[in-house]
Amino acid sequence: MESVLIVGVGFMGGSFALALKKRNFRGKIYGYDINPESIKKALGLGIVDEGTTDINEVKRYNPSLVMLSSPVRTFPDIARKLSSLLPSATITDQGSVKGKLVYELEDILGGRYVGGHPIAGTEKSGVEHSVPDLYEGKKVILTPTERTDPRRLKLVEELWKKVGGVIEHMSPELHDYVFGAVSHLPHAVAFALVDVLIRMSKKGVDLFRYPGGGFKDFTRIAKSDPVMWRDIFLANKENVLLAIDTFTESLSHLRKLIEEEREEELTDFLREVKTKRMEID
Ligand code: NAD
Repeated sequence: MESVLIVGVGFMGGSFALALKKRNFRGKIYGYDINPESIKKALGLGIVDEGTTDINEVKRYNPSLVMLSSPVRTFPDIARKLSSLLPSATITDQGSVKGKLVYELEDILGGRYVGGHPIAGTEKSGVEHSVPDLYEGKKVILTPTERTDPRRLKLVEELWKKVGGVIEHMSPELHDYVFGAVSHLPHAVAFALVDVLIRMSKKGVDLFRYPGGGFKDFTRIAKSDPVMWRDIFLANKENVLLAIDTFTESLSHLRKLIEEEREEELTDFLREVKTKRMEID
């Protein structure tokens, strides 16, 4: 591959660029971002070789592959512009939502779009936090469909393997069901949990003076970028609502066991959950 264009040079875009550089990617790495600060920082840190805030410039870069790394709801507009500016590049992404978005992007870009989502990240945003080893040993979900060009899929797979990713394929629909539950729901709950302290602090005590390790561990992800999470919740609305409803049922069940002091059932419930949780690490 000759060159790569990162669209949205933030934490994930910067990490992908650094990961390529660390693995001796020989081609040029270009960056496009709407925020001049992101481009300035990325150039200053040597994360991209050239960068711009003018999307028309990407025509001159003529990259062989584009990695979309901006918030997910920006993808369709960007894809529409890229479809004429870069008529032959392979276009892939790191977006946290696939589902309908994959079909929308395929309608714009055809088989040269390959949907992707690395299961790696942190609550930090911004290119200055980028890390070259972010994808080492991490799952990368690819969501090819019958329209996906197999040659381009292979290219994207090889690029992810080069930066340490472990490829797994899923349908766009299954991806959103799975990550609606294992990733989007915990973020929603973490945001809501902090909101509980905001609400309960109104009774004359500032609860934020007292959180210990448990609260801080649990809500670390509520420090994540609001725009990114707004986009994820709205783009995966159906599955996020399903997960929130299931969570509400589970919390109501726990509430009932506490309210009715059903000691034995409460212990059984907690024991069963603990056992299941211990299985994953
Ligand atoms: P970030 O805020 O660090 O970076 C996003 C960058 O996109 C910013 O530099 C911003 O200026 C730029 N941007 C915003 N709108 C744009 C537009 N219309 N055109 C061009 N650039 C634009 O966010 P991030 O954490 O790097 O997340 C980026 C993507 O990666 C999101 O789609 C997110 O769903 C996905 N993702 C994030 C994580 C994570 O843990 N942070 C993990 C997996 C996937």
